[in-house]
Amino acid sequence: MRKKIIAGNWKMNKNLEEGLALASEVVNIAKDEAPNDVTIVMCTPAIHLSQVSAMTADSANVFVGAQNMSEHESGAYTGDLAADMITSTGASYVIIGHSERREYHFETNEQLAARVKLALAKGLTPLFCCGESLEVREAGNHVEFVTNQLKESLYDFGAEDLKKVVIAYEPIWAIGTGVTASAEQAQDMHKSIRASLASNYSDAVAAEISILYGGSMKPTNAQELLGQPDVDGGLIGGASLKSRDFIDITKSY
Ligand code: 13P
Repeated sequence: MRKKIIAGNWKMNKNLEEGLALASEVVNIAKDEAPNDVTIVMCTPAIHLSQVSAMTADSANVFVGAQNMSEHESGAYTGDLAADMITSTGASYVIIGHSERREYHFETNEQLAARVKLALAKGLTPLFCCGESLEVREAGNHVEFVTNQLKESLYDFGAEDLKKVVIAYEPIWAIGTGVTASAEQAQDMHKSIRASLASNYSDAVAAEISILYGGSMKPTNAQELLGQPDVDGGLIGGASLKSRDFIDITKSY
């Protein structure tokens, strides 16, 4: 059975004090309300990682992740975050290849492949993001575009490594816009992603990989999206900044 995962991506929001307050609310509400079979991840800015990880240390299903990491192990890369630094905080997940990083920092599929490889070598679970722009969608090339992102960043891995990767499909046109992909659009793409995994590996491998949807997911639309057979979870931006909304999404399966 593949994992159900609800991951929050705080992006560049919350100073340290605000972030710790949010994390503490999430941990406390999750303890009482979140279903045990849902893995909850808070992907915080780097400065919050240690303290939020300490808060989640006793929790069986709440984990912490970084939002980005370098493909280099260490060295003269000012401002970058190394995998070892992330693991040393107690965080266990890392977002790789978010569309905002691809767009503003020109991250390439090849570079992202190197990051996924390093994350896996260091024991981090990569939340690998893929997704097309509105232009690509309108041209009808979205499936090809997304499967090519997967091919160029993931398909050199062996099956055992690939199974440790979580895929997040985030159509760029749905991120932060309030426009969600319809449940049907999400399911169609997730099904295509799973078919691509199956044809490059096997049905058994494809069946084990969690594919999350991201893009304006919120309590009011989560149930429909999470009810789709190939949508295994969500990567939540805006709604992860409100503890109540974030936990309500975990209850929407
Ligand atoms: P929103 O939920 O704010 O649309 O952001 C989605 C996202 O980019 C999560 O990584």
